[in-house]
Amino acid sequence: MSDSAEPRRPLPLVMEAPRGRAKPPVHLADLDPAGRAALLAERGLPAFRAKQLSHHYFGRLVDDAEQMTDLPAGQRADLVGALLPPLMTPVRTMEADAGTTRKTLWRLFDGALVESVLMRYPGRATMCVSSQAGCGMACPFCATGQGGLQRNMSTAEIVEQVLAGARALARDEVPGGPGRVSNVVFMGMGEPLANYKAVVGAVRRLTDPTPDGLGMSARGVTVSTVGLVPRIRQLAEEGVPVTLALSLHAPDDELRNELVPINTRFSVEETVQAAFDYAQATKRRVSIEYAMMRGINDQGWRADLLADVLMRGDWGWVHVNLIPLNPTPGSKWTASDPADEAEFVRRLEARGIPTTVRDTRGREIDGACGQLAAAE
Ligand code: SAH
Repeated sequence: MSDSAEPRRPLPLVMEAPRGRAKPPVHLADLDPAGRAALLAERGLPAFRAKQLSHHYFGRLVDDAEQMTDLPAGQRADLVGALLPPLMTPVRTMEADAGTTRKTLWRLFDGALVESVLMRYPGRATMCVSSQAGCGMACPFCATGQGGLQRNMSTAEIVEQVLAGARALARDEVPGGPGRVSNVVFMGMGEPLANYKAVVGAVRRLTDPTPDGLGMSARGVTVSTVGLVPRIRQLAEEGVPVTLALSLHAPDDELRNELVPINTRFSVEETVQAAFDYAQATKRRVSIEYAMMRGINDQGWRADLLADVLMRGDWGWVHVNLIPLNPTPGSKWTASDPADEAEFVRRLEARGIPTTVRDTRGREIDGACGQLAAAE
């Protein structure tokens, strides 16, 4: 991390994936249009075919070479092999909510396992994607946090999770008729801002107009972070105005140091200020994520303290999203009492802070937030 201006504090966690391992195959979704053409040229293939391949992948959502009939039959396999190598295979798919919530466990080229979740609602469909195999942030209440970090995912590995959902929707495989992915949330496995370059690349691919990318609106993309302050500041200048979600979970350093260990490096004050500056720079309202844990962070006085901490500028910059804790196996924490949750909401709203309680789709398939652990 380029944080040489930061005061030196002990680094409690592994922030970078181990180096020197084999890399995932390079794929069209890793590259911009010029890079795609260059890669074909390098392999002695006609560069202008890159555009057609992009159209098949992002525009038509085709992944079967047989259906790419505008490519010369004699070259098709080479072209597809060069730019559309297989990246992941589904190991298992689990469904809930009458098929409108689907969790898929994927095996990556090196055996690493990650999960993604498709959630379809009337009028929209959200893909929750992983950005790392495992996670190095070690939040004790999060299932992924318990296993440590295996590796960063590539841009194409991230994008391909969204494309898998887009294909399923386009092919009418999800109840509700043919549809498209309207939202992408980086709330699966991993800390997206610890895999910054690949995640920003994925956001670009998702938001670039078709056929260069999937043509989504940046406002439909949410990047959720524990609060890597220098990366939040960098993201604000990236020119991709995605929605930022900050996993705060406590308004005071004492408790947040325990719940979100990176807080020992970036305090609540620094982190919330960075989120506020992000909102000012992008004009996008920041979402504060707060998992409600019984007797831990759900006291009325902590709601008041949270309101104090979020009071800067005008209220328009922030929105609080309370998540009923999904207890992970062996965890000492449980979800808050409904009465305590209601009181917490009441106190925030009394201070004028827009507050919602997140729906908990996919709980019974361990597809709910924080439960993606790829235990195989
Ligand atoms: N590393 C990123 C994104 C992944 S987690 C982040 O921390 O923001 C997505 C959200 O699920 C985060 O807000 C995270 O704190 C929350 N979460 C993790 N474990 C949870 C659990 N057991 N119950 C409820 N929410 C949880």
